[in-house]
Amino acid sequence: MTADRTPEELVARLERDGVEHLWVVYTDYNGRTQGKSVPRPRFAGTAAKGITFAQANLGHSLVDHAPVDTGFAADSGDFFAVPDPDALNPYPLMADTARVICWMRAEGGDSWDGCPRTMLQRQVDAYAARGLGVQAAFEPEGYFFRFDEAGAASPLSDRNMFSIAALDQQAEVLHAISDTLEAMGVAIEQVAAEWAPGQFEVNLKHDVPMRAADNLVTTKDVVRAIARRHGLVATFMPKFSEAMGGCGLHVHLSLTDLDGASVSEGDGHPSGLSVLGQAFLAGILAHGRALVGVGSPTANSYKRLQPGSWAPAHAAYAVANRSSLVRIPGGRRRRVEFRSGDNLSNPYLFLAALLAAGLDGIERDLPLGAPAEGDLGMLDAAELARQGVVMLPRRANEALDAVEADPVVMASLGPVIGPEWLRVKRFELAEYETTVSAWERDAYLRG
Ligand code: GLU
Ligand code: MG
Repeated sequence: MTADRTPEELVARLERDGVEHLWVVYTDYNGRTQGKSVPRPRFAGTAAKGITFAQANLGHSLVDHAPVDTGFAADSGDFFAVPDPDALNPYPLMADTARVICWMRAEGGDSWDGCPRTMLQRQVDAYAARGLGVQAAFEPEGYFFRFDEAGAASPLSDRNMFSIAALDQQAEVLHAISDTLEAMGVAIEQVAAEWAPGQFEVNLKHDVPMRAADNLVTTKDVVRAIARRHGLVATFMPKFSEAMGGCGLHVHLSLTDLDGASVSEGDGHPSGLSVLGQAFLAGILAHGRALVGVGSPTANSYKRLQPGSWAPAHAAYAVANRSSLVRIPGGRRRRVEFRSGDNLSNPYLFLAALLAAGLDGIERDLPLGAPAEGDLGMLDAAELARQGVVMLPRRANEALDAVEADPVVMASLGPVIGPEWLRVKRFELAEYETTVSAWERDAYLRG
């Protein structure tokens, strides 16, 4: 990235800032931050060459189980987590500590297709080669819970949606989060109590794609860490309970020229997008089913994506309408908001896939139809058919099949990550599907 940010300069900054411990982190394919803490005497070697992790770590599901046919078996060797000097943050929650997000490199330091950040960088480079830049902003939603000794969860707040009372109940934690993030150099627009009791949202400021994804990763880690320090658990799972609102990860995207001036907005089309912006959005819609799979890759994700909620169930775009897969917010500056994703995705891969889909639309000059109208979850089949609106995948297996069937999205995940990610997610799903739930015992015990 920035040429003057060398390993030596990184070490000099760490020394100048009195850092004694460096958390060296990367994001696994499930979207989890993984890392180790490196003491000061090892900083120079770490900055220059990185530290090793087992490739086999990458063949595990969210419950740390690995499929027998993983591409990363015990004999798959190591990769090197090499600090990106542009992704260093102080970590004020621990004395004398900083965090750095890494490139995952092959032995010898070569670029490696197993690195999600490298996959995102490829897309950013492809846009730059066409004279384009991208701005991205993430909006993670989650819950704060207190768990009693019996393991029962109670939400941190019990007041009504978006109320000042709910904000007041959560404010001590939310302010600690926003203060910490600001001190770390992560810019946020707002923190808020969301729709359901105990639900919150962090609106991150837009930035170039890599920094937007890095900042999301940092934000989720800080939210969890601060909740822990308050005796709470912060969760980002898409649907904690069928009775409570879901938690999404909205992604806002806009296009710029290489000087950063917006090129997505225009007049004359009902979307409010420029010709370029229309083709970008048409590409995202053309690959919509696969993008849903990359952004919502678990069984739990599809309990959130239900018609009649603000989580989309239909493959359409609409203006100022929260029931569609893509919302064009109202107001003058036009951007697209992709609404189906959740926090069980890997944000680098999710962004890489979104950008690849948009670029495919630009390269093929795909036309954009008229925006959909109405609350799509409430329309009957005839009206949906009249508007040409189809449903998104209804289950994780359908969504993962859609990813595999989409060559553009698979190429954005690359030849190492794409097949392995699919294997692990299908294996995780198979474990879920063969596990008997409390609901089944209630329903079928005496049936
Ligand atoms: N919580 C909703 C979801 O699951 C979104 C609410 C909103 O529009 O912010 O996607
Ligand atoms: Mg929200």
